[in-house]
Amino acid sequence: MERPNAWKSYTPEQLEELDELCEGYKAFISDNKTERECVATAINLATEAGYRDLRDIVAAGETLHPGSKVFSSVRGKSLMLVQLGTEPLEHGVNILGAHVDSPRLDVKQDPLEERHEIVTLDTHYYGGIKKYQWVALPLAIHGVIAKKDGTTVSVTLGEDECDPVLCVSDLLIHLARKQMEKSAGEVIEGEQLDVIVGDRPLEGEEKDAVKANVLRIAREAADIEEEDLLSAELEVVPAGAARDLGLDRSMILGYGQDDRSCAYPSLVAQLACEAPVRTAVTILVDKEEIGSVGSTGMRSRFFENTMAEVMAASGQGGELELRRCLEASRMLSSDVSAGYDPKFAEVFEEKNSCFLGHGLTFNKYTGSGGKGGSNDADAEYVALIRRVMDDAGVAWQTAELGKVDAGGGGTIAFILANLGVHVIDCGVPVLSMHAPWEAVSKADVYEAYRGYKAFLDHE
Ligand code: MN
Ligand code: MN
Repeated sequence: MERPNAWKSYTPEQLEELDELCEGYKAFISDNKTERECVATAINLATEAGYRDLRDIVAAGETLHPGSKVFSSVRGKSLMLVQLGTEPLEHGVNILGAHVDSPRLDVKQDPLEERHEIVTLDTHYYGGIKKYQWVALPLAIHGVIAKKDGTTVSVTLGEDECDPVLCVSDLLIHLARKQMEKSAGEVIEGEQLDVIVGDRPLEGEEKDAVKANVLRIAREAADIEEEDLLSAELEVVPAGAARDLGLDRSMILGYGQDDRSCAYPSLVAQLACEAPVRTAVTILVDKEEIGSVGSTGMRSRFFENTMAEVMAASGQGGELELRRCLEASRMLSSDVSAGYDPKFAEVFEEKNSCFLGHGLTFNKYTGSGGKGGSNDADAEYVALIRRVMDDAGVAWQTAELGKVDAGGGGTIAFILANLGVHVIDCGVPVLSMHAPWEAVSKADVYEAYRGYKAFLDHE
């Protein structure tokens, strides 16, 4: 079955809208490289669009009405946005979901080490990475350091042009004869992902003088002591902004596009919602890359709890009503898809692959090894989605994540499906997924936005 290239049918107005969206997207992924940063920025944008904190509304005993816009954040790492529709909540809501955590190197709790006057930070990688990809490239640190006095220091280092950057060293090719014989998984081991942070000794210091100097800089810059690193969340990510990719500027090269190429269009579509009939919900969630676990992951109760609060605050509360709402709800669970890469044709089955520039990609199922761990959307729901997308003129395609038994992966889809929600996986095709710099087509980001908007507007 042919799925046409989206670029071929754009009007000048659409190309303008595409560019505007993608400029906003590039700025978003350049400035927001952690789940906390994504959530903070999303709250700012939502507040500008008239959203209010659900906690304030509940505390003040206010009532929600059709048109009310509320958000609920979970520890600043996950976020739910809700715009109430005119339809009773019991009839179900339309949900967009995407994750805002991305693979990276997390700084260990006791990280500083000085060896022969080179000081490094020990890290533990987060999510699935090819470790050899993270050496010999400029890195930045984003995160927070929580101090015992209850204050929190935000850290961003390596993004400003005047900032220094950090780096993990690699072995020179001249001495790499043995290393080059290793399998790719062992070329660089997890414990070798040590981030270089200093090389200059502090004057007058005898032992660990370089470390002493690094700590002096941290103390002078932000009043941080070594012990404070015990209660920090510091994420080492590729340094620098997202860029246009290709002579034709048709693509974007950037960090964290899994899954921010879905999260950003979801957020923009939610904020662009005008007086929906069915309540519009967008979930931006943490911890997908490590199995959706923990209080800020999709497996926590925050989604149900927030829906229960929204229902109660709008005078439609009750346990049974909540269950009915969930069962009647529909969701696009958005996560990036493996874009077909002709260089690695052997892992794809062409007919069931997604292609850059061919639009929003729907995966009836994901999983691995006989659909294991997948949400397998029912045919009737897939048919509904076909209708919604076609009626809105959205460019879309279908795909599986690679050939049968080539590998696979999971998403948050099954977690909502467990609550009875109708769910289908969809997302933007990506090249080099989980690499420090991932590539997407601007057309697919745009079609994702158009598809999300059509979905939220559907009655
Ligand atoms: Mn991923
Ligand atoms: Mn993902």
